[in-house]
Amino acid sequence: MGNKLLEKMSKITATSKEAVSDILVLEFTIVNACLIGDPMSDNKDFVLVDTGLENSADFILESIDKRFGKGNKPQCIILTHGHFDHVGSVVKLSEQWDVPVYIHELELPYVIGKKDYPLADPSVDGGGVSRMSKSFPHTSIDIEDRVEILPPDGSVPGMSGWKWIHTPGHTEGHISLFREIDRVIIAGDVFSTTKQESLISVITQKQEISGPPAYLTVDWKAAKESIINLRQLNPYIAIPSHGKSMRGKQVTDHLDMLIEHFDEIAKSEQGKFLDK
Ligand SMILES: [Zn+2]
Ligand SMILES: [Zn+2]
Repeated sequence: MGNKLLEKMSKITATSKEAVSDILVLEFTIVNACLIGDPMSDNKDFVLVDTGLENSADFILESIDKRFGKGNKPQCIILTHGHFDHVGSVVKLSEQWDVPVYIHELELPYVIGKKDYPLADPSVDGGGVSRMSKSFPHTSIDIEDRVEILPPDGSVPGMSGWKWIHTPGHTEGHISLFREIDRVIIAGDVFSTTKQESLISVITQKQEISGPPAYLTVDWKAAKESIINLRQLNPYIAIPSHGKSMRGKQVTDHLDMLIEHFDEIAKSEQGKFLDK
């Protein structure tokens, strides 16, 4: 099963869901993106966080038309990192809208054609998606003309009240977004809530939270530290890029579980990135 099939699946079943009144989660089956902004506000300002796959642009545009009025466009695009399932529509949309794209400086080389991600590691035990991961695009896109570095003070352009947090491990320059007032985190790929066979289901009798997508994660030590950092924020709502949002006590309970049993739950035993 290759990448094209994944793209097809994600198009057929794209849906959206409000996490809170000013966050719309766009779900492209295998990956999510978010529209952040209050559709009831007078100015209807909003921001797009991540851009899904290459064929996600139509659904993103339709969702914006419905929510913020026809032809409206975001103030900017924020990328959690540069993997293909997060930057898939960024070239097309940023050009069409003529808006800046913000990313962490360590992630910059991967979106301006300077550095490629390592090839995905299909030997990890992550189920169906990891088996097809070898066909995932890993070469750098080039958005040099539009890309900007996130402000060093932690603020997020176009998203007042939010902070970006450097959460490396899955990739070098991965970021998550946090809003203090309602303790929402947009986690990116720091952890996922996709249901896949994993040891946590044995431990908790549920299949809820898991580590970052294993077939692409490059630094497991940093990945664990990033989860600990997000846990310390006491999140009340967690929106991961892969899987459904979680809220309430289950967020912190599951993060505690994931941290405590990180090696068993998140790490793969055969993965080629394990020793790094
Ligand atoms: Zn990723
Ligand atoms: Zn991802």
